[in-house]
Amino acid sequence: FHIPVPKNEPILSYTPGSPEKVTLKKAIADARSQQIEIPMYIGGEKVYTQQRIPLSPPHDHQHILGYFHEGDAGHVEQAIQAALNAKPQWEQMSWEHRAAIFLKAADLIAGPYRAKLNAATMLGQSKNVFQAEIDSACEIIDFLRFNVAYMGEIYQQQPISSPGVWNRVEYRPLEGFVFALTPFNFTAIAGNLPASAALMGNTVVWKPAYTQVYSAQVLMEVFQEAGVPDGVINLIYVDGPVAGDIIFKHPDFAGIHFTGSTKVFQNIWKTIGENIHLYKSYPRIVGETGGKDFVIAHASANPKAVAIGLLRGAFEYQGQKCSAASRAYIPHTLWEEVKNYMIEDLKTFRMGGVEDFRNFINAVIDERAFDKIASYIDRAKEDPAVTVVAGGGYDKSKGYFVEPTVLETKNPQSLTMCEEIFGPVLTVYVYNADNFEQTLELVDQTSPYALTGAVFAQDRYAIEFASAKLKHSAGNFYINDKPTGAVVGQQPFGGGRASGTNDKAGSLLNLLRWVSTRTIKETF
Ligand code: NAD
Repeated sequence: FHIPVPKNEPILSYTPGSPEKVTLKKAIADARSQQIEIPMYIGGEKVYTQQRIPLSPPHDHQHILGYFHEGDAGHVEQAIQAALNAKPQWEQMSWEHRAAIFLKAADLIAGPYRAKLNAATMLGQSKNVFQAEIDSACEIIDFLRFNVAYMGEIYQQQPISSPGVWNRVEYRPLEGFVFALTPFNFTAIAGNLPASAALMGNTVVWKPAYTQVYSAQVLMEVFQEAGVPDGVINLIYVDGPVAGDIIFKHPDFAGIHFTGSTKVFQNIWKTIGENIHLYKSYPRIVGETGGKDFVIAHASANPKAVAIGLLRGAFEYQGQKCSAASRAYIPHTLWEEVKNYMIEDLKTFRMGGVEDFRNFINAVIDERAFDKIASYIDRAKEDPAVTVVAGGGYDKSKGYFVEPTVLETKNPQSLTMCEEIFGPVLTVYVYNADNFEQTLELVDQTSPYALTGAVFAQDRYAIEFASAKLKHSAGNFYINDKPTGAVVGQQPFGGGRASGTNDKAGSLLNLLRWVSTRTIKETF
């Protein structure tokens, strides 16, 4: 079996008149004019219930795109059973066969499903065309293709044998089922969590965020069409705690593949700990969680590069990236220039629905997120240490719109410097340019998180020094670049401290968590 050498999927440009733009516009128009009914998928069957929940674009919350069918505890039990039933045949299947299925899924997304999946991500999660393209086209395709190559590498790793002795390692899937619990903000992550565990021979119960159900269901169609057998991935829409209550008490619970907030993950970890005596094996706990990602500029940095890095890092997808720049440390010698550049550039940012491809800023995901972000902005306005440099407005009358907001604070420990807001809010602390070293100390000490971070400097010694000082402050560290936009195969992604178990999504390290090896020594 020849595994193709993976290459990153090219990003399509959607220039006026391009075939991809025409196809995508039609997919969006179709999606807006139809009323879809979104079923769960258990054991390969579509499951409809009486509990229909309306789905609306966050930027146009009065428009109903359709309904998804919510399940209850009984559906969780059924999904677990379906996963367990599917397991024996799936794990017997050769790994080459599993590879072929997931490579086919990647090809389906690259081709016939690209527009449909991008449209679902744009409308369901309020992502503009470019943010959708890099997520629900390129990144998920890359995850699928690169993971197949990494799987091939894993299976080739074998111990040394000697005359008369044959040693070998079997990379068995885990014993039981895997629970994939996924966030709203990346369609690619949501798809990768069940797919990577399944690729390694596991069967999965997958519960997406309610705000990502639309694109999750399109992914499920892709998996089915690619040939993922019935019951290997079971997609359910059930309230998180209801699902958790059954799953984390099940003796066959073999592992959780989670991405989401730190608080939810920490509670899950505690629950697993309390139930540890119930399980047949110690479950694998893999989680990528929250962040409070930093940008620090040295006095030698190029101010324009800093400003662009901050604008893109903080405001793409409305700041709803775990890697988003949300606190910045800028030397007083650069601040005026960085600030003025940002203020001017922000005037060109258009805000509105995703249907108009010129809009750069769209809505935040839902009312709860909107209210939370607005409350951070309000509290910042009341804080005498904080000045609003740009933005600060919000309006939820038509959609959940929050202006890209830049705050300047005199207090490096102010609320918006410390807590994850998960919205378009950037707080800047201006430091005395002579105090670079102390400021690095401050960056390191004021965050319990360690997901992403960036240093901007021209001075090589400053770069080296910052890199050493901030060794444990970020799992993904950027030098002279924004802290977002990790590409599969190029920058394996994940954080430490309260940001996750750092198993690096889209890497060999992550896939190794979904196997439990058996070592065999045979003597002749
Ligand atoms: P979330 O924690 O609210 O939800 C994640 C998933 O957990 C959802 O499916 C949700 O329904 C479920 N859930 C929520 N409460 C639960 C409970 N009590 N029991 C069981 N399940 C429960 O996160 P979100 O709002 O969807 O995503 C945003 C968060 O994800 C941010 O904190 C962000 O930093 C983080 N994130 C991290 C990464 C990373 O790679 N580190 C990537 C993307 C997002």
